[in-house]
Amino acid sequence: MTPIPDRLSVRQAQERILASLPERILESEKVPLSQSNGRTLAENIVSPIDVPAFNSAAMDGFAFNATSIDCSKDQSLKIVGHAYAGHPFTEPLSTGECIQIMTGAVVPDDCDTVIQQEDVHFPDSSHIAFPAMAATSGDNIRPVGEDMKKGALMLKAGTQLKPQHLGLLASVGMAEVPVFRRLSVAVFSTGDELCPIGKPLEAGKIYDSNRFILIGLLEQLGCDVVDMGIIEDSPEKLEQALKKAAQKADAIITSGGVSVGAADYTKQVMAKLGGIDFWSVRMRPGRPMAFGKILSGNRETVLFGLPGNPVAAMVSFLFFVKNALLVLMGTAPQYPQPITAISSTDIRKKTGRTEFQRGFTHFQDGRLHVSLTGNQGSGIIQSLTDADCIICLPEDQGNVETGNPVEIFLMDSLL
Ligand code: AMP
Ligand code: MG
Repeated sequence: MTPIPDRLSVRQAQERILASLPERILESEKVPLSQSNGRTLAENIVSPIDVPAFNSAAMDGFAFNATSIDCSKDQSLKIVGHAYAGHPFTEPLSTGECIQIMTGAVVPDDCDTVIQQEDVHFPDSSHIAFPAMAATSGDNIRPVGEDMKKGALMLKAGTQLKPQHLGLLASVGMAEVPVFRRLSVAVFSTGDELCPIGKPLEAGKIYDSNRFILIGLLEQLGCDVVDMGIIEDSPEKLEQALKKAAQKADAIITSGGVSVGAADYTKQVMAKLGGIDFWSVRMRPGRPMAFGKILSGNRETVLFGLPGNPVAAMVSFLFFVKNALLVLMGTAPQYPQPITAISSTDIRKKTGRTEFQRGFTHFQDGRLHVSLTGNQGSGIIQSLTDADCIICLPEDQGNVETGNPVEIFLMDSLL
């Protein structure tokens, strides 16, 4: 690793993290398609069949051969049969004949056109008639392989499967898909003041909330979470916990203890166990962050030591950890697009650091506006729960006045 500047910009920290991830490919496994939502494809997928596998009617109507009649003149055709979806009509047709056909039914080989039901009239119960130029050869037929050609590359390795991907895979009959195994991530909170939920709060203690934020975020990403609870502010306990985590998981996320307080042991213990960088990032909330690897035997486990304040921990996860985990999972990092909104309030902002303030949006006069969610202290979790976006104020930005444009990331695009 190149020497670390004293304080990194957000962009520098993001780039350094992605550049120093170990190049390790997770083992793959086959899972039933119904259990593959959110998983990462381990192989390119080539279509085993044509979809549709037959020429298929795109409309309810009547199928006939338009090249054997003169469609530039009024026409009348005799109805000689019916084709329903799943029930083909298999007898030959002669010139001047048609069949009634339903959407999704097989178009017989000797037909090349489907005319919509709405475009014909019925001179009697066994005939249809339609005017000159109402039909052209090829109308309303979905040809073999229109959706997907046999042998075509459908999805690339590394794709994170979403419902639409499952639909595509089902459409070619794939019952099982090759995916990478889930990334396992160990999580613990550090701090003597932390009390687990379910216990009465003693004087001077607070409930451990970070772990629930982080576990929720990890589950949403599709990771296997190893919940290691709360670890005291003790170098020995911390060392034990980190060693155990390194054996169990592909990555470790801790919160708290990475600052410069007298009980902030995380740094020294991490340094002892591996190659750890301690960073101060020019951002708020956030700032202190540890990143590196714990070495045990020939195993390398990536470690993120996040700040203790809950808002800082969540923001740091979203802007630094998430993309690193995506890469470790075998998929691509995500770069949500910021959108511009008009600030409905004055915002105090110091230059020289990126600030991630929590906001909520509303439309007014056809434009997107954003307000702050009250007190922006880095411990105030309600500033996150009231928010539908993060307002991202760049380093060189000073105070924002009401009516000024700001860049926001919708919360849903970050999660
Ligand atoms: P630290 O980084 O350990 O100095 O913690 C900074 C602040 O975050 C302190 O006020 C801690 O009490 C608080 N904090 C640390 N860990 C947690 C946690 N897991 N849940 C809620 N607050 C925390
Ligand atoms: Mg602490």
